[in-house]
Amino acid sequence: MIDMHVHTNASDGIFSPTQIVEWAYKKGLRGIAITDHDTVDGIVEAVYTSKKYGGFLLVPGIEFSCIYDGKEVHILGYFIDYTHQELINITKEIKDYRLKRIKKMIQKLQEINISIDFDEVKNIVKDGSFGRPHVAKILVQKGYADSISDAFEKFLTRGREAFVERFKLSVEEAIDIIKKSGGIPTLAHPGLLDESIFIDDLIKKGFLGIEVYHREHDSQHEEIFFKKAKEYNLFVTGGSDYHDDQKEGVPTVGSVGISYESVINMKNSIE
Ligand code: AMP
Ligand code: ZN
Ligand code: FE
Ligand code: FE
Repeated sequence: MIDMHVHTNASDGIFSPTQIVEWAYKKGLRGIAITDHDTVDGIVEAVYTSKKYGGFLLVPGIEFSCIYDGKEVHILGYFIDYTHQELINITKEIKDYRLKRIKKMIQKLQEINISIDFDEVKNIVKDGSFGRPHVAKILVQKGYADSISDAFEKFLTRGREAFVERFKLSVEEAIDIIKKSGGIPTLAHPGLLDESIFIDDLIKKGFLGIEVYHREHDSQHEEIFFKKAKEYNLFVTGGSDYHDDQKEGVPTVGSVGISYESVINMKNSIE
């Protein structure tokens, strides 16, 4: 089996690309797709490590957070050329905006007499991508909130004082850049879409795959989206959307996936 939706610490997962490949191999997976949020920074390391394990398939991927009709839609890109210049430029633009956004958040916090320094955030993020969880952590450390989720509820969630919107691509832009870099644009976890979205319209924007199997999908979702896949001739994919869960000390990467053969089918379609 191959888990087609895995995050590393290049975005908001807890394991490094090397660690996640090692765990996946140890757990008997035939491969994984690295699909970090808005970045391909983890892929070189994951590919390098995967070579140590003969036959282990490392699928280079990405997960873009997009905006569609004012709602959030996540788009996976599989088998992308992660050295493609335009793709790199877009991910860099998104990352740069995350830094600006955190600075804005800090400013908004200062306006309500909560003082945190940019350097404090930078110390946790290092070369990674700035996110609200980092700010939340500092708010907890400094006693402004009781827990990470308390920090979100008090300050960071939409509608609260320090909330600043992320930079998001449109669905069209994300599909376009995935196709340009040779990848397969895939609708991520459609079961989590806002109910107001008419999925057929969305699919017609140019998707070639759909994530039928996902940690948060029930059997009804699977049935509905499997039918959509047949109707629109889309690749059926699935993955755990692994970030950090553990069961008895073992990461749950690989809890959802698809067969090796179906991944090879996808790969062959673009070669
Ligand atoms: P960002 O990408 O900076 O907008 O941060 C999004 C991340 O914040 C998500 O991936 C979650 O891990 C985390 N997050 C969002 N809402 C909450 C919440 N209410 N409580 C705790 N963590 C949250
Ligand atoms: Zn995530
Ligand atoms: Fe997602
Ligand atoms: Fe994800």
